[in-house]
Amino acid sequence: MEKVLVSACFLGNPVRYNGTDLNVAEKVDTQAQAILDSWAKEGRIVSICPEVSGGLPTPRPPAELQLDGRVVDDTGEDVSSEFLKGAENALALCQRFNIKVAVLTESSPSCGSTLIYDGSFSNTKIPGKGITAKLLSENGIKVFSQFSLEEARAFLEKLEA
Ligand code: SF4
Repeated sequence: MEKVLVSACFLGNPVRYNGTDLNVAEKVDTQAQAILDSWAKEGRIVSICPEVSGGLPTPRPPAELQLDGRVVDDTGEDVSSEFLKGAENALALCQRFNIKVAVLTESSPSCGSTLIYDGSFSNTKIPGKGITAKLLSENGIKVFSQFSLEEARAFLEKLEA
């Protein structure tokens, strides 16, 4: 059975920069929660918070990916090395469990898969990938967001057909 890498905050762990989780049933929908529940029951889920895994505390200052590729928090500190370490840890987990599918939290500078904040701390989103989503994609792992869990489930079914 194929395993799936899932962002830890998406599973109810309060590891976001502001010390909260991402309440799926509330912030996405109950169908998404049902898919997650079924994956958990099947023992498919492998979880990571790349930013915590990379050595950052919770809570932590919000950070955004800059145009030059660095990740900087809103105090001006460069946290690129922690973000990169977290991404490498996520990739290592995928390789260890032969994971081909990840569901990561949209818009995060680590986990965002189609949208990220633009680096100006002005609440502006632009198309792009976070550091972890990019590294996983470059290594052949299909990355979905919490808004495309149905697609992720269909992709898994095809892999197992
Ligand atoms: S790095 Fe990913 S898993 Fe961790 S809090 Fe941010 S979005 Fe969630």
